[in-house]
Amino acid sequence: SDSTIIIGAGHAGTALAFRLRDLGYEGDVVLVGEEPHHPYHRPLLSKAYLLSDVADEALHLKAPDLYASRRITLRSGVRVADIDARNQFVHLANGEILPYGRLVLATGSRPRMLTSSQVGATGELANVHVLRDLNHARRLRDAWMPGQHLLVVGGGYVGLEAAAVARDLGMQVTLIENSDRILSRVACAQTAEVLQSMHQSRGVRILTSTGLKCLETSPKGADMQTQTQAMCATAAILDSGERLMVDQVLVGIGVTPSVDLARMVDLVIDNGVVTDERLRTSNPHILAIGDCANFAWQGRRVRLESVPNALEMADVAAHTLMERPKGYSALPWFWSDQYDLKLQMAGLNTGYTHVVVRPRVQKEADTADPVHPDHTDHTTALTPGVISSVWYFRNQTLIAVDAFNDARAFMLGKRWIAAGLSPMPEDLADPAIPLSSLSL
Ligand code: FAD
Repeated sequence: SDSTIIIGAGHAGTALAFRLRDLGYEGDVVLVGEEPHHPYHRPLLSKAYLLSDVADEALHLKAPDLYASRRITLRSGVRVADIDARNQFVHLANGEILPYGRLVLATGSRPRMLTSSQVGATGELANVHVLRDLNHARRLRDAWMPGQHLLVVGGGYVGLEAAAVARDLGMQVTLIENSDRILSRVACAQTAEVLQSMHQSRGVRILTSTGLKCLETSPKGADMQTQTQAMCATAAILDSGERLMVDQVLVGIGVTPSVDLARMVDLVIDNGVVTDERLRTSNPHILAIGDCANFAWQGRRVRLESVPNALEMADVAAHTLMERPKGYSALPWFWSDQYDLKLQMAGLNTGYTHVVVRPRVQKEADTADPVHPDHTDHTTALTPGVISSVWYFRNQTLIAVDAFNDARAFMLGKRWIAAGLSPMPEDLADPAIPLSSLSL
């Protein structure tokens, strides 16, 4: 068959379908997505979409009529239930069977859930939410009301963004985090502190080194008459023993790559579907891209959860399918919006040996030792007003930057890291020296 089937109509799958046409692919392109919506921008779900009445059309990745005009067969609202890899067919949940020449897994990831000991026997609690897809976001938008008490479980980006929206909506917010600080998997302590201070100054109560022991539940008022036994969380018992009354709970404790289909056809899996640098899996006819793929990058294995990564992988995969090999050349980057802060991150910070903090304004009272931030005098809280960027080094090499409302630091940092250039830490730490004047 000359047909390419893409499973998953998220950022990666949709971009791949269009990229194949851009590159002149003539075969059939079938994009199968389980969600009953036109492919949409996921990052907005924890940002503008939750806060306001952003119309669903404003979320669309591509105008709906473009699919037909680019000869992309979009099958929304239907799940791929099985793959017959030997005969090269996919089985849809509605019974249809589609032949493929090449298959691409773009199945994304799904939110981790609370354990059964945390939520109790009923499992489903009407006011306990995760935030991964448009249906989740719609439910949150309907349920969250000013004055309600929201408990956010997990101090990652989704939890922090949702906390910011909830404060803007006038909710009381408590955020609990198991680790000794927020963002412990993804950012350095200095960046975490900037965000923590910002949230605290906006009235979010943040409890670190604090797990959720369990939720207390009771039948949901309205459904008591209908005897449907919908249950709600009413209080949270924390590891510390503290009991917290809650109206809403958001669980933001990370995601796991969606690899069920890959497992069914015995692909090699290790924290995602394992691929080479061209995104080929262990089956010669199957590729994997986006959140679900664990790929080879600069001599190591990486699995990223970001839109820029999904788009770059779509481009690489399109080239692989066209037999015009192209490497993953973009530097990974990411952004997060919280209140009026735009945080932009470039590079991969894993394996950093130290960070350099660049103050926004030089203050005489600020005795921070930027090259050895452990020695920082914390009498001045690190906030986006005080810090403009944080630079990650592996020994002498600049590997990543976090920029706080500082597009210039982000752009220059991205360019330097991609080019293998490393400014002097002393220069970065001195706000009197413009970044653009650094000669590298
Ligand atoms: P997804 O976009 O998750 O798409 C996968 C699709 O595959 C889903 O629609 C799923 O339903 C479908 N699917 C799975 N299995 C099947 C099957 N068997 N049959 C049919 N369909 C199937 N990234 C950023 O860079 N910046 C941000 O600010 C940011 N904010 C985010 C905020 C939120 C609330 C969330 C949830 C994510 C955010 N991300 C952000 C991460 C980003 O959205 C993901 O990295 C990106 O969506 C990954 O794209 P993907 O195509 O791999 O997966």
